[in-house]
Amino acid sequence: MTQQALIAGGGIGGLAAALATARAGWGVRLYERAPFFSEVGAGIQLGPNVVRVLHDWGLANGLARVAAFPRQLTVRSATSGDTLGRLRLGETMAKRYGAPYATVHRADLHALLLDAVRQAGVTLRLNHTLSRFSQDANAVTVQSGDDPPVEAEVLVGADGLWSPVRQWLLGDGPPRSTGHLAYRALVRQAELPQALRSTDVSAWLGPRLHVVQYPVHGGEWLNVVAIVHGEAPGDLDNWDRGTEAQDLLAALSGACVPLQNLVRAVPAWRLWALCDRPPMQGAYQHALGRVALLGDAAHPMRPYLAQGAGMAIEDAAELGRVLAQALDPALDVPTMLNRYALNRWQRNARVQARAIRNGQIFHADGVVRWGRDLSMRLLGERLLDMPWLYGGP
Ligand SMILES: Cc1cc2nc3c(=O)[nH]c(=O)nc-3n(C[C@H](O)[C@H](O)[C@H](O)COP(=O)(O)OP(=O)(O)OC[C@H]3O[C@@H](n4cnc5c(N)ncnc54)[C@H](O)[C@@H]3O)c2cc1C
Repeated sequence: MTQQALIAGGGIGGLAAALATARAGWGVRLYERAPFFSEVGAGIQLGPNVVRVLHDWGLANGLARVAAFPRQLTVRSATSGDTLGRLRLGETMAKRYGAPYATVHRADLHALLLDAVRQAGVTLRLNHTLSRFSQDANAVTVQSGDDPPVEAEVLVGADGLWSPVRQWLLGDGPPRSTGHLAYRALVRQAELPQALRSTDVSAWLGPRLHVVQYPVHGGEWLNVVAIVHGEAPGDLDNWDRGTEAQDLLAALSGACVPLQNLVRAVPAWRLWALCDRPPMQGAYQHALGRVALLGDAAHPMRPYLAQGAGMAIEDAAELGRVLAQALDPALDVPTMLNRYALNRWQRNARVQARAIRNGQIFHADGVVRWGRDLSMRLLGERLLDMPWLYGGP
């Protein structure tokens, strides 16, 4: 009989996990607490390490239809507007790493994965909040509301930053506030003055802030994210609200004119409080017994390496690889999940740590900022390219 897996959460991580597990020959049921599938209206960057996985899953054409494939990343000073460094993306990345660098609207990526998950025969249960979990030597059991309990061989907690599965499994408390706020916006390029439209990725670095912009939705829209220092009010859980550009402009008062013009040209912003956890400490944080954690449930990170969803997709690919070994009678489920955990935790920890460090470098002032700008000017691409990341896992 086909082995059964349950997935908690239908975000990018949960859908990727469902797809990889179904492709490994397992029966999959996915539970999402929301009444319908959705993703926040924002963009997402996908390094070649992530695009390669999507290609392996047969999604190259679908991705090509909705993504943009910028030719370069330009790093600029947020105060002077000067170019500090460049990284060639486009053909250069595709040749170097076997897949291009892509930028995509989250809803487009989510829809692409959802379509593939449906085609793979995954059972999708919306409006189901998993709240009771248990496991023994033979099975893992979950329950949603008053529904009868459901049993399976594996449970994947892909239930995000505030993961209930993680709390049941590890009981290590809530994520921490980073003290950083993210302003996010999407704007139709056609509605922007010509000088503000862009087909490339730009990162503007300034003291205690940075701004990233890139095209999404086949290049029709521009995604803009501005990160500033600041504390969010107490209710961090699900903290996402509309906000005024005035707040952001005040934070960007020392920024150069083109950057201020961009912020002024954007019609509406959403504000997010950024939370994370310290880098993973060991494999036990990724899987225990019949339960695996994946994506933000396992390793929520600051978005300064643009790899949170990317690591969730890499996790899913590894999960699929280990679960495909289920036909081997010498391997039981805990052993397979332990392999998954051993193969993933150090890479995720490294990406988490690097994301924290990037934030410090991006937001530097004084002598550190001077050193950063100089090394970026001197080393440029050698500093910005990351073979360990883009060529991995
Ligand atoms: C400003 C910003 C910019 C970013 N930019 C990038 C980028 O450029 N590239 C990149 O790779 N990453 C980026 N990230 C990170 C990325 O957004 C996340 O890492 C990724 O979306 C996490 O996906 P997930 O599926 O693990 O979690 P989520 O998207 O949080 O999904 C979890 C799902 O689980 C559901 N759920 C929760 N509890 C339950 C329950 N009890 N029962 C059933 N369902 C439940 C939720 O409703 C939700 O749908 C960025 C993040 C931020 C904040």
